[in-house]
Amino acid sequence: MNAITVIGAGTMGNGIAHVFAQKGHSVVIVDMSTEALERALKTIDKNLSRLVSKERISEIEKSDTLARLTTSTDLESAVSAADLVVEAATENIDLKLKIFRDLDKCAPTHCILATNTSSISITKIASVTNRPDKVIGMHFMNPVPIMKLVEIIRGYATSDETCEKVMKASSALGKSPVEVNDYPGFVANRILMPMINEAIITLNEGVAGVYEIDTVMKLGMAHPMGPLQLADFIGLDVCLSIMRVLQEGLGTSKYAPCPLLVNMVMAGKLGSKSGEGFYIHTRGSKELVVAPSFA
Ligand code: NAD
Repeated sequence: MNAITVIGAGTMGNGIAHVFAQKGHSVVIVDMSTEALERALKTIDKNLSRLVSKERISEIEKSDTLARLTTSTDLESAVSAADLVVEAATENIDLKLKIFRDLDKCAPTHCILATNTSSISITKIASVTNRPDKVIGMHFMNPVPIMKLVEIIRGYATSDETCEKVMKASSALGKSPVEVNDYPGFVANRILMPMINEAIITLNEGVAGVYEIDTVMKLGMAHPMGPLQLADFIGLDVCLSIMRVLQEGLGTSKYAPCPLLVNMVMAGKLGSKSGEGFYIHTRGSKELVVAPSFA
């Protein structure tokens, strides 16, 4: 699988494009927004420069990686020679179904269609294509160049051959792929999101403050980040939408999102992307400052 097309040039798309290009693949990144494409190339350039300054790669490796990357706003031409497409567009089911219908029409018949969705059913996405055996979940973690895990999700009809090829391609990126079945939240978010939601319930019930809850989980459980800080990093809107997928898909009140999470999303307090969540996020600052509503 040499030629890769990545759909979506946002947080995850630029990281996925980066790791494939660094390992020698030719990569086309597709987005509707030319600004997003420009930003993605700048981010990849900056992240590669950081690797050069840490002497993890040479200047030549950096320029070779950048030379393997191209961008496009035209899906049809961008997938015409692809061996593997990794879709990392906005988490919206109707949007993803449309993209996969289009991909099925335009990509070569041998091409594997993977999605980086956090929570949408792979089986559902595969059902709108004529190649459900070649549709699979490839759930990279954020930030992609650093995190080792790729959760490989088999849809109902995903073939053994597709799964083997994608496991092998993920290992060749230096990642550790883990195969799981298609079920609401898969494994990563089935376990992580209820923990984050429980931390928000704990805060909402006044058991402890933001700093205290995160400190207990960091120092007590050796988590690199507390659950509330992690929620800000992921995006509170993303956390809420995954809780709703778990609640609907698994059908028990155990997965009901905390009303505080719902309110914060309605108020536009989405975490680092909006500048405020449980913490205040100032560009360029790594200091953890609890948001005024919780101080
Ligand atoms: P993002 O909002 O940063 O980027 C999404 C990009 O998709 C945007 O640049 C947007 O312009 C583009 N886009 C929208 N419609 C498109 C279309 N029709 N064609 C091409 N591009 C289109 O989102 P993200 O955080 O990178 O998330 C992308 C996917 O990865 C989602 O499915 C999300 O659930 C999943 N994911 C996110 C994280 C995370 O921590 N952010 C982690 C794992 C998985």
